[in-house]
Amino acid sequence: MSQGEEKFKILIVDDSPVSRKLVELPLLEKGYEVIIATNGRSGVELFEKHRPDVVITDWMMPDLTGKEICHRIRASSEDPYSYIIVLTGQTSKDNLVEALGLGADDYLTKPFHRGELLARVGVGARIAGLHRQIERKNKLWEGLALTDSLTGLPNRRAIEDWAVTQLSSAARHGFSFWVALADLDHFKQVNDTFGHDAGDAVLKKFGRILKNSIRRGDLCGRLGGEEFLLVLTHTNRENALRVIDRIRMELANTAISFGTCTVGVTASFGLAGFEGSHKASNFNRLRELADTALYSAKRAGRNRIEFTPAPAF
Ligand code: GH3
Ligand code: MG
Ligand code: MG
Repeated sequence: MSQGEEKFKILIVDDSPVSRKLVELPLLEKGYEVIIATNGRSGVELFEKHRPDVVITDWMMPDLTGKEICHRIRASSEDPYSYIIVLTGQTSKDNLVEALGLGADDYLTKPFHRGELLARVGVGARIAGLHRQIERKNKLWEGLALTDSLTGLPNRRAIEDWAVTQLSSAARHGFSFWVALADLDHFKQVNDTFGHDAGDAVLKKFGRILKNSIRRGDLCGRLGGEEFLLVLTHTNRENALRVIDRIRMELANTAISFGTCTVGVTASFGLAGFEGSHKASNFNRLRELADTALYSAKRAGRNRIEFTPAPAF
């Protein structure tokens, strides 16, 4: 009766105490976690609170009907999916057709057979369990698709999605927006001299320095290879330069060890962006400007920061 460690949760919504007991007892015996609502309104509340796997709801209740319950549950969320079984004393097929049309998955006619109740709840729990499994996999996949596996930082796609949204918000609300590109200096030599694992250790360390140096509302990620990107907002150019210079110095002063060796590396940085009510809304253009600045920093001797002012877009 469980989904991994978790028990399946069943919500029973019924205004009749006798009917509630008839449903509850077999479910408890089977080991389900049972939540009871004695009227429609508390049924909806308890649904919101517990997100049960299966809902068994009476069709005729004084406050909210089973029809309204189905409607509210389906309107309230799509995930996680809850399987709805309607209990009806009526044999009218019209009601059942309506219930199924409103999002119920199954029905039971009172008086019901104990074994049939358990069998139908079992089907519901299985289906709800599958939905939850798919959801967990989707979440995991989304996480993987947006995360760089070596550094654990957001990857190119995640940064681009986030930066584009932030940039349009900056243009609309008039706050400052800075893009910094960082590229490790002579990184090929690190790999060539110390091996690829040493190179990986350097990338991880640089990722940690970046992450620890920015504010919560800012973002850093790995674009690929030995190139990283930072987005800083709500700060002036002087401060943005100060943050990046701190990062530059920290990396330059860090001895990165792996195995028995230690290696020292530096990085070059290119900054572009704007303050105040600039109407820039093209992230790729800003990134190109940062790239031009980075190229200047490399040409000027590396381990330094250059800035390209943004022309009017
Ligand atoms: P520059 O100062 O001009 O940037 O020189 P560089 O050597 O850093 O630049 P180049 O683009 O020539 O070399 C980049 C190197 O980065 C080559 C590649 O092997 C290494 N690299 C890219 N991705 C990874 C990775 O995931 N792990 C490791 N260990 N190395 C990587
Ligand atoms: Mg490099
Ligand atoms: Mg490079």
